[in-house]
Amino acid sequence: MRGYIALRPSLLSGEVRCERLVGDALDAARRNRDLNAFLEVYEDAVERAARVDAKIAEGTAGPLAGMIVALKDNLLMRGRKCTCASRILEGFESLYDATAVARLLAADAIVIGRTNMDEFAMGSSGEHSAFGPVLNPRDRRRVPGGSSSGAAAAVAAGIVHAALGSDTGGSVRQPAAFTGIVGVKPGYGRISRYGLVAFASSLDQIGTLTTTVADAALLLDVISGPDPFDATTDPEPATRVTDDLERPLGAVRVGLPREFIEERLDESVHEALERAKDALRTIGTSIQVVSLPHLRYTIPVYTVVAMAEASSNLARYDGVRYGLRRTAATHTELYERTRNEGFGPEVKRRILVGTYVLSAGYVDAYYRKAQQVRALIAREFTDAFRTVDILLGPTTPSPAFFRGERLHDPLTMYLSDVFTASANLAGVPAMHLPVMDDLEGLPIGVQLFAPMRGEGLMFRVASALERTLRQSGR
Ligand code: GLN
Repeated sequence: MRGYIALRPSLLSGEVRCERLVGDALDAARRNRDLNAFLEVYEDAVERAARVDAKIAEGTAGPLAGMIVALKDNLLMRGRKCTCASRILEGFESLYDATAVARLLAADAIVIGRTNMDEFAMGSSGEHSAFGPVLNPRDRRRVPGGSSSGAAAAVAAGIVHAALGSDTGGSVRQPAAFTGIVGVKPGYGRISRYGLVAFASSLDQIGTLTTTVADAALLLDVISGPDPFDATTDPEPATRVTDDLERPLGAVRVGLPREFIEERLDESVHEALERAKDALRTIGTSIQVVSLPHLRYTIPVYTVVAMAEASSNLARYDGVRYGLRRTAATHTELYERTRNEGFGPEVKRRILVGTYVLSAGYVDAYYRKAQQVRALIAREFTDAFRTVDILLGPTTPSPAFFRGERLHDPLTMYLSDVFTASANLAGVPAMHLPVMDDLEGLPIGVQLFAPMRGEGLMFRVASALERTLRQSGR
């Protein structure tokens, strides 16, 4: 499936009908069932498509009319199931729309299903789902990345134009990298988290997965902005990124953190970075090496903060309020049985570690210390953005790895986020875009970071970069 914007003129002229698009998408989902990308496909989306077709004919259709979208299974849509790929939410049905979902629907996008993911968004490979692993459409023996695994696979396989995912430490950008698409994590507060099931609230952001930068821009403009239901949204109206996308760049200063290049990188990741640098020079940006010394503590800090917040957020799954309930003689036994049977091993591991780092006697050594280093990382980003406008880096240390390769080695698995999680710790916007395929045909790309509220420039650089790379025939 081509990008949505390229298709829009033929949709608006009536040459292509939404009903047909939805039919094709449902067919494609069926043909690609082996990917295990969807936990549920909404066959009744055809009816909504007919209504959008009618609006197009009347000339009243919204800006996303006919955009075929999939949702990560941690985003609420009224009347639909939501499980976070966990047994503990078995049977749970959403009572309301997440703000981002409500805005999508108001803009006439068509949601065709909910996608598989690492349970409660905890993972980097799509293997931690209670409903089986997701395969990478680019090489089915490999993982699609995670935790927005099914969302990325559905876009990369051409089933949908776009998907919404969530990014707490890299869960939109890393699967985008492994499947060769565009993944955006906007700045903290840009998109309301109302209706996104909480994992680590101070890090979570909804993000977009698309095949082009322009589609991501369009989607972001629709779903971002203040929301009275989420007090952490930026109260300033979000500046639109779509309008300026093609505007000439002028003198943009790009910084490459030394700490990123000093990490162990695959040869092909190096090459992608070099190609991106060449392309950036072609479009007239200057590149300099900068230093953010505390970046090297990204993973330990992220791990402590994310697990601490997760242990607290997940306390609500008690067998009483949501989903699964195991009966027992006492309340304590009910909690124990429900949580023991409902949560998978990775979720349990994180609840245990999170509870430990918050417990009396350890909270100063771990959680408080991590918060202090987090503040240093955030400050280093702010300082870096005094000398450069955009930061450039790899997204992942390697292309997509094989299924099973890291499943029993959680520490290696956590290292998948070494380049992505800092943006969540600092709250800044970041995005992945594809650059090239390696010798085995696996996609590799780079990551851009911008200062808070700097999405506009980040998208303009990404768009120019995308155009230049395309012209050079990647
Ligand atoms: N892969 C990271 C983790 O396992 C990030 C997850 C995310 O961004 N939701 O925690």
